[in-house]
Amino acid sequence: MGGCPNRCRHCWLGCTPNGRLTADDLRFVATAFHPFTDGLEVVSWYREPDYLPEYKELWALENELSDGRETPHYELMSVWRAVRDESYVPRLKSLGLKKCQLTLFGGREKTDYYSGRKGVYDEILQAIEMLIAAQIAPRIQVFVNKDNIEDLQAVVDLIHAMKLEERCAAFEKQFTAFVHQGSCDGENEKLYDIRITPEDLPKIPRELVDYSLQHWDKSSLDEIFGQMEQMLVDQLSESKETRSYVSDTPIFYVDKNFNVYPNITTPALHWLLGNLKTDGAEAVLNRYLGSESPAQKARLTVPLGEMVKKYGDPTSRRLFSTSDYIDPIIKRWCEDAYKNRQA
Ligand code: SF4
Repeated sequence: MGGCPNRCRHCWLGCTPNGRLTADDLRFVATAFHPFTDGLEVVSWYREPDYLPEYKELWALENELSDGRETPHYELMSVWRAVRDESYVPRLKSLGLKKCQLTLFGGREKTDYYSGRKGVYDEILQAIEMLIAAQIAPRIQVFVNKDNIEDLQAVVDLIHAMKLEERCAAFEKQFTAFVHQGSCDGENEKLYDIRITPEDLPKIPRELVDYSLQHWDKSSLDEIFGQMEQMLVDQLSESKETRSYVSDTPIFYVDKNFNVYPNITTPALHWLLGNLKTDGAEAVLNRYLGSESPAQKARLTVPLGEMVKKYGDPTSRRLFSTSDYIDPIIKRWCEDAYKNRQA
């Protein structure tokens, strides 16, 4: 797995050290899982796509290991690579990309700060120009917290200054943009204290609201940003619901040390299924099917209300979707259970 040049403060994957599986490692992973599937798909990255210099060879390897089928190129790109390799964006075009997502947090200062790398904002502007030259429509994602909400007008100003609507329309594509507050796992969980509350919603510039409603196909910002934590605590505290995360078409992360996690939320210790080298694929898959990672087990055996009553804040006005709210609650439950076992 390739790493990432950024250290985004909202990164749901968490900012783990860079590191990677080699081509031989990827072959090992594919060979290990292959007997247990009738449709293996292998992707060589889970952080920034195409960040590694041999990204073209890795793409060919992904296709080879995916039973010879061409894997999709998601509507994501490496901004880092785009501004350092002039063949990169034309290659995205040749792979059939029609839209591509880039992330802003306001103007230059906020975007560099939140991306964890100085110069990102200017690189994103360059990448947008490259995408438009290749007739790929940029889609701008904007994360909102209390400390950048006043800077969102800078995004609107940029959309106008770069004439993004008009320039996308010139090649018959629609320019799109959207705001949201992100999940509450990985690095984003650390932003809990500055998560927005209902009083903040009117501060989002009208044009970004309109783009967002269209993007998410919603009729109000409440539908995008969810409910206050105090309401979720009230609703969920008596819930007896339990849940299995086992799927017929599971996706797994394999990190640089061959640790395996289900692709449900952040690849963290409480989701760990085992290690492909030391445990083997069959044991890892049996743990998945048996809901044996601590988070799977907690969610399957502990009524949701019990966890929410223990870890929810009934006075908090922070906004969450229900599914995003459950992630940090499960994490706290698992961390405490782990500490109690150690004590
Ligand atoms: S959000 Fe994406 S670009 Fe940012 S650190 Fe995470 S993987 Fe890298």
